[in-house]
Amino acid sequence: MANDIFCQIIEGKAPARMAYQDAEIVAFWDIHPRAPVHILIVPRKHILSVCELTEQDAPILGKMALAADKIAKQEGIFNSGFRLVMNSGPDSGMVVPHLHMHLLGGRKMGGLLA
Ligand code: 5GP
Repeated sequence: MANDIFCQIIEGKAPARMAYQDAEIVAFWDIHPRAPVHILIVPRKHILSVCELTEQDAPILGKMALAADKIAKQEGIFNSGFRLVMNSGPDSGMVVPHLHMHLLGGRKMGGLLA
């Protein structure tokens, strides 16, 4: 395991408000929410970002999307709609070096970055 904050949360060494867990994925509420629902969907396996994704690890992206559907239903935003965001690389503003998907919803989104 690497030692980024998401690895620490996955290992139970740092606190987080959990939203969903299965054998491969952990999801928890973002500490600085940008929407009424802002949940981070994170693979247990330490993969740096989409830039480092291998053919072998590619299925995890589909599993993250399926987890997003489940969580959106759980949080009551499946029908109203939601946004999935993945940052990768320096220009994206990615802060935590561990593959993750932002699930955002519970308010009307404007343009792509609004
Ligand atoms: P990034 O910019 O890397 O795509 O997004 C990382 C996200 O992780 C940010 O939205 C930030 O608020 C969130 N974050 C950073 N540290 C923590 C933490 O310790 N706990 C939780 N729950 N979220 C965090």
